[in-house]
Amino acid sequence: MNSFRTLDNADLNNKRVLLRVDLNVPMENGKVTDATRIERVAPTITEIADKGGKVIILAHFGRPKGRDEKDSLRPVAAALSEVIKRPVEFAEDCVGAVAKTAIDAMDPGDILVLENTRFHREEEKNDPAFVQKLADLGEIYVNDAFSAAHRAHASTEGLGHKLPAHAGRTMQAELDALSKALVAPAAPVIAIVGGAKVSTKIDLLENLVGRVDALVIGGGMANTFLHAQGVRIGKSLAERDLADTARRILDKAEAGKCAIILPVDAIVAFHFEANAPSHAYGLDAIPDDGMILDIGPLSIERVIHAIDDARTLLWNGPLGAFELQPFDRGTVAAARHAAERTRAEKLVSIAGGGDTVAALNQAGVADDFSYVSTAGGAFLEFCEGKALPGVEVLRVR
Ligand code: AMP
Repeated sequence: MNSFRTLDNADLNNKRVLLRVDLNVPMENGKVTDATRIERVAPTITEIADKGGKVIILAHFGRPKGRDEKDSLRPVAAALSEVIKRPVEFAEDCVGAVAKTAIDAMDPGDILVLENTRFHREEEKNDPAFVQKLADLGEIYVNDAFSAAHRAHASTEGLGHKLPAHAGRTMQAELDALSKALVAPAAPVIAIVGGAKVSTKIDLLENLVGRVDALVIGGGMANTFLHAQGVRIGKSLAERDLADTARRILDKAEAGKCAIILPVDAIVAFHFEANAPSHAYGLDAIPDDGMILDIGPLSIERVIHAIDDARTLLWNGPLGAFELQPFDRGTVAAARHAAERTRAEKLVSIAGGGDTVAALNQAGVADDFSYVSTAGGAFLEFCEGKALPGVEVLRVR
C-alpha cells in the first residue's frame, strides 16, 4: 500500500476535502433499501471530519441524462446522516454558486453532500473545464470509490490531476486486498473462475493463467472448455464458437505452468428450473438432451483438495446455476471449505464480482472470507491486469 497516498499522509485540518464515494445504493419509493455502500464509506467520512476537514462529498447516482429528480442524492444524504449519526447538509448542485455558497458556510468537521455529479454530462466526459470547476471547490481530493475507479470521469480521475490526491480507507482496503491476491500473493495461488460465459471473462482468464499456480474453471463457462476438448455436453449452456479461444487459454496455462482444474463429472438436469430432477454423470456419459447445471461430487472433491494446496485464493463467479436449488451445491461446498481454511488462517481468500457476493452470502460465508469486494467492473478489470484510471492517479510517483 505504500505506493499510494492515503489519509495517513494528508493534512486535513481546516481543509476543504473533496471526497468521491460510491453512494449508488438501491432505492425504492425514495427510500434507501440497502445501506451497505453507505456503511462502507462511513469510516472515511467520519475520519476526515474528526481530523478537522470539511467533508464535501461527490458521488454519482444512476445513469441520468442531465438533471433528473428521480436520481437526486438528497434522500441518500439523509440516509448517510442516519448511518453516521451526524448532521449532513445537502447542496442542489455539485458546481457553481449553489455548491460554493454551501461550502463557504462549512466549519471544520462539517459534512456536505453535493448533488449527483452525473447531472452534468461533462462528468462522464472528464471535461477539463468541469474538472476545474470541481477543483476550485476544494483543496484536497480523496477517492474512496474503488467501484467507479475503472472509469476516467471528472470526479473519479480528472480531479486527481488538479489537487493532492489520496485514497480513502475503503479504497485502501480494496487495493490492499487485491494486492494480496494479485501483486504480491503468498504462493501457491489458486483462482476459481465460474459464471455463465467465457466471452465476458476472456481477459480475466488470460491474465490469471499467467499469474496463478492453479485455475479452477466452473459454471457455464466450463462447458465451453469441455466442448473444446471434445466432450459431448448435450444441451448445456456453452459458447461453442469460442472453442479456439478456450484452447488458446489452455495452451497458455500449460506454457505458464498453471494447472487447470476442469470438472471431471457434472450434475445434469433436463429443465432449467429449481428442483428439476438431476443426476451426476461422468463426462463420457452426458445425455444429449441434458444440461450441465453444476459440478459433480468428484469435481467438488478436486476443488476442495486444490483449495487445501493453496495459500491464496481469488474467486470470481459461481461454479453452477447457484440461484436454483440444488444446483448451488458445488459453489456452496467450495465456498464453505475456503471459509474454513481462512478461519484456520491457512488461506487468504479474496472474492468479488456481482454474483460471487450473492453466492457467498447464500453459502453463509461472506464474512469469513479475508475480503469480499462489492465492486463489479472495477474488481474484474483489476483482476484482468488493467490499470484503473481512478487508482493510477493516486499512485506515488
Ligand atoms: P457471471 O455473471 O458470468 O458470473 O455468471 C453468473 C451466472 O452464471 C449465474 O446466474 C449462474 O446461474 C450462471 N451459471 C453458472 N453455471 C451455470 C451452468 N452450468 N449453466 C447455466 N448457467 C450457469
